[in-house]
Amino acid sequence: MLLFCPKEKSPESRVAVTPESAQALRSLGFSVCVESGAGLAAGHNDEAYRSSGAEVVSDAATVYPQADVVLRVRSPEPESISALKPACLHVSFFDPFSRTDLLEAFAKSNVRAVSMEMMPRTTLAQKMDALSSQANLAGYYAVVRAAERLNRILPMMMTPAGTIAPAKVFVIGVGVAGLQAIATAKRLGARVEAFDTRPVVEEQVKSLGARFVKIDIGESGQTEQGYARELTPEQLELQRAGMAKVCSQSDIVITTAKLFGRKSPVLLTREMLAGMRRGSVVVDLAAESGGNVEGVQLNAEFETDEGVRVIGYGTLEACVSTHASQVYASNLQALLEHVWDAELKTLKLDTADPILKGCLLTDGAAIIHECFRKES
Ligand code: NAD
Repeated sequence: MLLFCPKEKSPESRVAVTPESAQALRSLGFSVCVESGAGLAAGHNDEAYRSSGAEVVSDAATVYPQADVVLRVRSPEPESISALKPACLHVSFFDPFSRTDLLEAFAKSNVRAVSMEMMPRTTLAQKMDALSSQANLAGYYAVVRAAERLNRILPMMMTPAGTIAPAKVFVIGVGVAGLQAIATAKRLGARVEAFDTRPVVEEQVKSLGARFVKIDIGESGQTEQGYARELTPEQLELQRAGMAKVCSQSDIVITTAKLFGRKSPVLLTREMLAGMRRGSVVVDLAAESGGNVEGVQLNAEFETDEGVRVIGYGTLEACVSTHASQVYASNLQALLEHVWDAELKTLKLDTADPILKGCLLTDGAAIIHECFRKES
């Protein structure tokens, strides 16, 4: 079984196979092949892959028709899909809700495509949950980036030259990224407040030593899978009104509020940004799905007329590419271990398996997932 990891397109700096995971995958029974330079931006040169027993090739096009498994971080080019061998297993993020062209291309070429976005959020699939492994690092790095851009320090300091008050950080949306942002800001000594529409989050916020901001928006609750429900326009208005004062008093605001498969809600309007202090910093971790901040620019940062810096990078975790790759590669390794038949030394893809049922979108030259299948 040949497993191939192509080089990601710039500016992506993460890689789907690390030398460490290459070794583990080889022990499982795969022959591992990596495109030259694939790991460089994540801190792994070709030599490191060779030392772990992987083959390094310079021309990806020659490997595509032979590979049984292709592992990537991001979506492939549509042209490269038709070069793949029939029944090849392709694993990556590829935004299936918007990229129906890729889904159709996978089905047309009889490639079995796993979308890492669709990995079930269950205890069984936790080791394979790449959305969580990446969001966790994005939450951490959002605070680090904001702290670096802020013209103040985060901790309180009592010095002979006077006392410096701690910075105030407000985290909006307390899922995986938000919790890590709170923990990181606390570690750096800031005073942290947070809000989420799911009331169960209050205890988690308090256990990290932060204050939960209470806003009465009426019934909000969460879905059976633990996700936030979409708010009505009236509830969103109440939420924004309740947050405006906290934002105006914060030095850093980090927004992480996403709605699975849908556009993110606008939680910070231009007016709210204008009400913030000059020099304060906003990091919008939902920028890729439309953004929580009105006017946010994807993969860019800018300063408003009032001097508020707005940061909108889609995948901030890529800024810590070594660790982001380490945990992503480990997610993929866990998935392959799950579908590996150790006796026959081959893949065993059971479409009734609860994990594959969630994330395997194409099989047998057809789109099989219920969310994307077109009924004839
Ligand atoms: P997410 O990325 O979908 O959203 C981030 C947060 O934004 C969520 O907490 C959500 O409630 C919140 N949010 C949505 N709309 C909002 C609004 N208008 N205002 C403020 N906040 C808003 O979330 P996530 O990181 O995927 O986590 C969602 C939940 O799933 C969490 O409870 C998490 O612990 C859980 N989870 C479970 C597993 C598992 O069981 N294996 C894995 C991952 C996440």
